Amino acid sequence: MVIIISKRFEKLTKRLVDIKTEMPEEINKIIDYFIKNKTLDYEKILWILSLKDEVIKEKIFKVADIVNKILNTDIVTLKGVIEFSNYCKKSCYYCGIRVQNEEINRYRIPINEIFQIAKNGVEMGLTTIILQSGEDDNYSDDELEALIYKIHHELKTAVSISIGERSKKAYERFRKAGASKVLLKHEIINRKIFESIHPDKDYDLRIKLLDHLVDLGYITGSGNIIGLPGQTLEDIAKDIIFMKEHNIKMIGMGPFISTHNTPLENYKNGSAELTLKAYAATRLAIPYAQMPATTALGTIDRKYQFKALNCGCNVIMVNLTPDKYRENYNIYDEKIKVDLIETAKEIINMGLSIPPYTLRNLFIKEA
Ligand code: SF4
Repeated sequence: MVIIISKRFEKLTKRLVDIKTEMPEEINKIIDYFIKNKTLDYEKILWILSLKDEVIKEKIFKVADIVNKILNTDIVTLKGVIEFSNYCKKSCYYCGIRVQNEEINRYRIPINEIFQIAKNGVEMGLTTIILQSGEDDNYSDDELEALIYKIHHELKTAVSISIGERSKKAYERFRKAGASKVLLKHEIINRKIFESIHPDKDYDLRIKLLDHLVDLGYITGSGNIIGLPGQTLEDIAKDIIFMKEHNIKMIGMGPFISTHNTPLENYKNGSAELTLKAYAATRLAIPYAQMPATTALGTIDRKYQFKALNCGCNVIMVNLTPDKYRENYNIYDEKIKVDLIETAKEIINMGLSIPPYTLRNLFIKEA
C-alpha cells in the first residue's frame, strides 16, 4: 500500500511540475509547497479562500482536481443516506429540525423498515449505508447496535453513523457491531461563534468525542458550515487546519442555508463559490480525504455540486429515505433529493467514474 501511495505521489509530482508552465507565480508557490510538504499550511489555505480573480480561482480548482484524481482516482464514491428520525433534542440555531421547531411533522422509521431501506440501497449497488438522524434517544444503544450489526453482517456493507452525541461506551459498541465510519461535524472551530449558535452543545466535549472516535478506530468524519453569521475566512482556514491536525478522514463542508422558523432565518445563505474554494484548499491540505460534494451545495445550485467533483471532491451522498419521511427531514429549507440513478448518470456524463459494483448493479436494474 505504501508503495502504491508513493508511486501515485511520484506521478502527481511529475504532473504538477508539468502544469507549472501554465500557472501564475502565486500558484506555483502553492504547488512547490505542496510537493515538498504533501499538505498546505494556514497561510496558503487562507490565500486560496481569499481568491477573487476568476482565472486564478479556476487554476487552483484545476490543481486540486489533479491532486484528487491522481491520488484518489476519478471514481466518485456514492454513499446512501437513510435519515431515519427527524426528532432531535438539541437547539442548534441554524437547524430546521431543532427541538423548538413545532412546524414540522416528526417521524421515526421503525428498525425493520430501516433495514429494508438499507437492503434496497445495497441491491442498487451502494457499498456504504449512512444512518443519520437528529439526536434521538428514543432509539436505544441496544437497538442501534443490533441494527448496525445486521446491516453490516447480513448485507455485507460498510455502515457509517451520523447520529450526534452519544456516550463513548455507545460509540465503542457501535464500532464493535460493525460501524466503520462516523460523522460528527465540529461545525465551526471558532469557540465564540460555536457557543453562540449551540446553546446546548459543549464545545470541549464535542472535540474530545471526535478525538475519541478517531482513537476507537473509526474512519472519522467532521466538517464545518461555510457562511455562518460572523464567520471569517480565517475561521474557515482554522477549521481546515483543525481537521488536518485531528486526523479527520472524511470532510463534509456545506454552505449555510437560512431556514425558516429558526433563529438564523434572516441571515443570507453561504456562498457556493467560497465553498468550492474551501474544497480546493482542503484537498491540498488533506489530500487523501473522502470529501463529499454536499447536498447543501447542491441545494443552493445543483451545478455547483457537480462542479465540486472537479475541484477536489470525490463523494456524493445519495438519498435513500422514502419520500413520505424525507420531505420532513428539513435540516435546512428546500433540501433537495439527491437521486442515485440521476446522479450516477450525471457523473458518467461528466467523464468521471462510479465504483464498478455500483455501475453493474444500476445497469442490471435499468436493463
Ligand atoms: S444540527 Fe443536529 S444536533 Fe443540531 S438541532 Fe439539527 S439535528 Fe439536532
